Amino acid sequence: MHFKFSISIFLFFSVSSVQVLGKMTKLSVIFSPLFTVNEYVFMVQARGIQIRENVRNIGVQVLEQVVRGTYSINGTDYSYDFNMSESDAPPTTYLPEGFTYLPSQVCPEKLPSMKGRLEVNMSEVSLEEVERSLLQKEPNVELGGYWKPKDCLPRWKVAILVPFRNRHEHLPILLRHLVPVLQKQRLQFAFYVIEQGGNEPFNRAMLFNVGYKEAMKDLDWDCLIFHDVDHLMENDRNYYGCTDMPRHFAVKLDKYSYMLPYNEFFGGVSGLTVKQLKKINGFPNAFWGWGGEDDDLWNRVQYANYTVSRPHGEQGRYKSIPHHHRGEVQFLGRYSLLRHSKERQKVDGLNNLNYSPLVSRRPLYTNITVNLSRKLAPIADY
Ligand code: UDP
Ligand code: MN
Repeated sequence: MHFKFSISIFLFFSVSSVQVLGKMTKLSVIFSPLFTVNEYVFMVQARGIQIRENVRNIGVQVLEQVVRGTYSINGTDYSYDFNMSESDAPPTTYLPEGFTYLPSQVCPEKLPSMKGRLEVNMSEVSLEEVERSLLQKEPNVELGGYWKPKDCLPRWKVAILVPFRNRHEHLPILLRHLVPVLQKQRLQFAFYVIEQGGNEPFNRAMLFNVGYKEAMKDLDWDCLIFHDVDHLMENDRNYYGCTDMPRHFAVKLDKYSYMLPYNEFFGGVSGLTVKQLKKINGFPNAFWGWGGEDDDLWNRVQYANYTVSRPHGEQGRYKSIPHHHRGEVQFLGRYSLLRHSKERQKVDGLNNLNYSPLVSRRPLYTNITVNLSRKLAPIADY
């Protein structure tokens, strides 16, 4: 038995490494050289992490097998599944079909209606069409996209903040996909689309700070979800409430072959409670253009002595709507800024931010348009 056991470990390891290498080779052929170097670097890092993770998993499984062996009852051998793909939480932890709850009770987090794997529809659709069809299915959405369950008390009041500029095809696709999921998850929620006006490079992080401040003027939200417009969750058990630690939701992206690109990756979709966000002084305002602001947020979270929580396995899967970066600039200064995340955290964030927003309500979201410039978030040594 032990002999067979060690062979299967060896086989698994070699096969999985070859698969990863195979993917890499294929990818480098398909990708044009301009298909950002970043993406390629992520793949390389992801490969390293995956191999390390496999080794760690194997270690755990060997230990478990040894323990099971020691305690085997009547000599019965437990069969052990060497399929390393992590599975969803066992269905028993979700409430059974037909489970009823009361309007006076807090909504459960693991509802029977949350079935797991979701269809992802990326076909283009107009905003008007999405507004019409969602409101037809669920008329209890108020102007601005406010919704809350009526059959139980929502566990979280969640503001979904979406940074935005010139991605008009993406927004209706996101709303069509996500609104029904949040309703199924029985969360109280609203969407805020924070649109950057003017001609400065895009500043995703500063838009999140603006979105947070504006959303809090509306309602005492207790959980903020920072959501890229092009990320579509593939599993409705990826619950968009907050946790006692800052949460990273978008763990496995199709564009990174469903691997976490690197352990400190905090991009795509993340969530913090109001308390957590205040403690880290929000997002940095100093990242103009593509890249780095999510890594800075990761650093802030660490310096505040938090650890990041993530959904398990399949639950953290996302598809992202393919797009180009035409006309968008990389932020080359990000590496030097990231070296001083700790010092900057105290002076750059929610506490040095000025802006004048233009707020309007649409049927499914609030639009906040804001012109951003460096002078709106002054720091001594920029
Ligand atoms: N974004 C946007 N317009 C832009 C650049 C970025 O709306 O010109 C927003 C959008 O929500 C997007 C997010 O910022 O999903 C992250 O940017 P991007 O998708 O370019 O990042 P990447 O796909 O490279 O991670
Ligand atoms: Mn994107």
